[in-house]
Amino acid sequence: MRQIIYTFSARTADRWRSGRVLLAGDAAHTMPPYMGQGACSGMRDGIALAWKLDLVLSGRAGHGLLDTYETERRPHVEVIQRCAVELGRVANLKDPEAAAARDAAFRRGDVPPLPPFPVVTTGVIATREDKTPQSLAGTLSPQGVNAVGDRVGRFDDVFGWGFVVVTTTDPRAVLDADHLAFLNSLGAVLATTEPGSAHSITDVDGTYTDYLAAHGIEAFLARPDFHLYGAGTMHELPGLVDGLRAALGTVGVPTRRSEGAAL
Ligand SMILES: Cc1cc2nc3c(=O)[nH]c(=O)nc-3n(C[C@H](O)[C@H](O)[C@H](O)COP(=O)(O)OP(=O)(O)OC[C@H]3O[C@@H](n4cnc5c(N)ncnc54)[C@H](O)[C@@H]3O)c2cc1C
Repeated sequence: MRQIIYTFSARTADRWRSGRVLLAGDAAHTMPPYMGQGACSGMRDGIALAWKLDLVLSGRAGHGLLDTYETERRPHVEVIQRCAVELGRVANLKDPEAAAARDAAFRRGDVPPLPPFPVVTTGVIATREDKTPQSLAGTLSPQGVNAVGDRVGRFDDVFGWGFVVVTTTDPRAVLDADHLAFLNSLGAVLATTEPGSAHSITDVDGTYTDYLAAHGIEAFLARPDFHLYGAGTMHELPGLVDGLRAALGTVGVPTRRSEGAAL
């Protein structure tokens, strides 16, 4: 028999950033153990913070980008904290009769579903005019097996972690030189399921073809933490790229010629 006795809580720091100091993981938020999401949330913090710090420290984005770390991550964590607290209430019933009724319900499969897993709802995502997220913006991008030349594997194993544009046709047909220079400055990967392009990938398990078709879209733009910046038709892709550039508060990278003076 082994026992580990410890005290857990669901607490969140009042603020996660003070100038050059940023909190992540349990320092920013603690989590009851009932969903196994404490370290998972800390890893999400680290992954979100890493790409933003990289862009800011290399001069490719404004310092304000770091403020979106907390505005994106805090609501996400708080949803999971609330679910973990509720699951704790289910697991920790002390009344034997209530516990027996719970166990019987679970054995019958009479278990209420968990609420949908949270997505990013604010920050660096494409929004409508009323500031609500555009369709699919903030949700997680698909992750399938693909092949490029003799490299075969999961998308991030083949291409690494970075910005990703996946399209049904060659993206150079709709993106101009400014768009391509901006995406190149981010180290973005362009990948199209259409054969014959310099950016063609083989969608080995059909993940991308199926995902694009299921959502009635032709393109998506994903961030290095796998959340979608936005998605839409090929016609809408240039607008998504422009929106990302504006959201990053980009400095020091090629700007649209028409905006050059203002920026
Ligand atoms: C029993 C248990 C089960 C869990 N199960 C899961 C699970 O299944 N899934 C899951 O996702 N999460 C789980 N968690 C939660 C997970 O362990 C934590 O969320 C995670 O470890 C937090 O990581 P962290 O790096 O933010 O903080 P920590 O792991 O606490 O790391 C902080 C580090 O900083 C060091 N430190 C503190 N003060 C100082 C200082 N002044 N100077 C230098 N170093 C310092 C500490 O020694 C520690 O090494 C569980 C936790 C417990 C207790």
